Amino acid sequence: MRLSPDQPSTPQAREDFQANTRSVQTYNQELSTLSPVAIVEWALARFGRDCAIAFSGAEDVVLIDMAAQSGKEFSVFCLDTGRLHPETLEFVERVRSHYQVPIEVMSPERRALEEFVHQKGLFSFYEDGHNECCSLRKVEPLRRALSTRDAWITGQRRDQSPDTRGTLDTLELDAGFHGRGEALYKFNPLAKWTSDQVWHYIREHSVPCNPLHDHGFRSIGCAPCTRPVQPDQHEREGRWWWEASAKKECGLHITEQVDSN
Ligand code: SF4
Repeated sequence: MRLSPDQPSTPQAREDFQANTRSVQTYNQELSTLSPVAIVEWALARFGRDCAIAFSGAEDVVLIDMAAQSGKEFSVFCLDTGRLHPETLEFVERVRSHYQVPIEVMSPERRALEEFVHQKGLFSFYEDGHNECCSLRKVEPLRRALSTRDAWITGQRRDQSPDTRGTLDTLELDAGFHGRGEALYKFNPLAKWTSDQVWHYIREHSVPCNPLHDHGFRSIGCAPCTRPVQPDQHEREGRWWWEASAKKECGLHITEQVDSN
């Protein structure tokens, strides 16, 4: 399957979106009636390559598949933390080859990471929590990736974490990161989908997936911080399992009720 570049986003469509005085909440009402496929198309029609799909897991490949099917321009990046499973790295290359789409692989800032590991070792997160390591290996590279864009598309779903994503909107103004302009728009086309709907789409469309899913892994992050879960466990229970908090996030998604007006 080939990404067709022959339907670029139009500057007028983007201008209409950005200059419109309606609030993000109003756009949300419009978008919440659309299917994920239509939401992806809606975003790409306005932002094209300046809208990036953040790729790491099964949901993100579903979004790449929808974007590729749309024939519109888009971009993709992923965060190579340096601690991913080999299977995940091979999966990234399989997606690149399957969709013939460039994937911008973001690495952590070398000096800061070396200093951190020198001071605290390679497994400090088991002692004092994952936030510091995630901040260096994930959040800072994400900040750089987003700094050149106007919008991004994520695979977040409400049912991934009722505590942190239970009220997730389809469109948000990103409260945690800056793009290249005044506003950074964040689209969550799968917000209302369940895990079953994601996997149904994967099977129906023969979407590539990470082989670790065949070994009981459901939500897949870095190797030292991810483990398989039992069928009756929630998918996030396999992430940072030594931490008790129900609010398990790595800092990539910061939510806040913000209106664009
Ligand atoms: S998931 Fe674990 S290894 Fe990966 S960045 Fe976070 S703390 Fe570090």
